[in-house]
Amino acid sequence: MPSPALPVVSPAINSASSARLNGVDATKIVRPAWQQSLADAVHSPRELAERLCLPQEVVERAAKAHRDFPLLVPESFLQRMQLGNSADPLLRQVMPAVNEELDIPGFVSDALEEAQFRKAPGLLHKYEGRALLVLTGACAIHCRYCFRRHYPYSQEPKRLDDWEPAFAAIEQDSSIHEILLSGGDPLMLTDERLLAVVRRLEQIPHLRRLRLHTRLPIVLPNRVTLELIDLLVSTRLTPVVVVHANHPNELVTDCALSLRQLTQTGLMVLNQAVLLRGINDSVEVLQDLSERLIDLGVKPYYLHQLDRVAGTAHFEVPEETGLALVTELRKRLPGYAVPQYVREVPGEAFKVPL
Ligand SMILES: *Cc1c(COP(=O)(O)O)cnc(C)c1O
Ligand code: SF4
Repeated sequence: MPSPALPVVSPAINSASSARLNGVDATKIVRPAWQQSLADAVHSPRELAERLCLPQEVVERAAKAHRDFPLLVPESFLQRMQLGNSADPLLRQVMPAVNEELDIPGFVSDALEEAQFRKAPGLLHKYEGRALLVLTGACAIHCRYCFRRHYPYSQEPKRLDDWEPAFAAIEQDSSIHEILLSGGDPLMLTDERLLAVVRRLEQIPHLRRLRLHTRLPIVLPNRVTLELIDLLVSTRLTPVVVVHANHPNELVTDCALSLRQLTQTGLMVLNQAVLLRGINDSVEVLQDLSERLIDLGVKPYYLHQLDRVAGTAHFEVPEETGLALVTELRKRLPGYAVPQYVREVPGEAFKVPL
């Protein structure tokens, strides 16, 4: 398929990119290419410990878990961690831990039983009206609690032509109105490739919405390029961007700027978080997370109960605790700032509210 030339930047983008955040003019910030930031990401537990002035024993304990699912953390995310704090809530999301090796009953590799919903290579159709494309297995960060850490990505399509069976399956099912681009992280694709996918989807008449599920605006904020924003505001499909932040400390500096860039174009931007023990299982943290999101124009969407994936048991918060936290949030926040507390139950027609 010929890849169409990028459309010129629309006026909506110009006004968004000149938005001021704490007196900083977004247009004046020269950012390195996001691919470069990705290449410069930290891959070594030893280096991460050194940079944060943490004892090396942290690293020794992490060795095996690191071999199974290697550490990966971009510089920008690292910059938001506190020096010398081995309990830092951002560090805990990325540092391999001995607990990951524990074999806990009930925590399995395909916790969501997704295989049965694979309607074509790379296409998951589980819920009515919406289907999900697993565009890539790659991410810019490796979250230790990740529910997709055991996903068989190697079996999914690679080249654009390989996606045709998935596009054809969507074409044949007019009940599908929305496509979720997911992964891994769909923004690991270049803007050119993403544009080619979106242009192909636009040709399917019954599609109305395009949803992007991505953590990159949070962990690799310079991925929010003008080309990306332009793609989102220019597609005939109604775009929705769902980002993934778990802790208010993530929503600062370059991350806050990138979220502002997205929301000020008028895009709908939502956040989903995972309830994680030792990271955001307190009402103060969850309240602060919601308030910072709202300040940036992002609506708290879901608070997920952890999927019971092998190696993640130490992150689980009991449902009763989660329920108590959400009840307390309702008292402290306007209704629109309270996320829906949900859990994925294999076989259910929607994410089940708790
Ligand atoms: C979560 C999910 C969706 C989207 O669900 P919403 O409740 O609409 O956010 C769609 N497809 C799959 C396979 C999912 O896991
Ligand atoms: S960004 Fe999302 S898919 Fe990637 S490792 Fe983190 S939780 Fe998993």
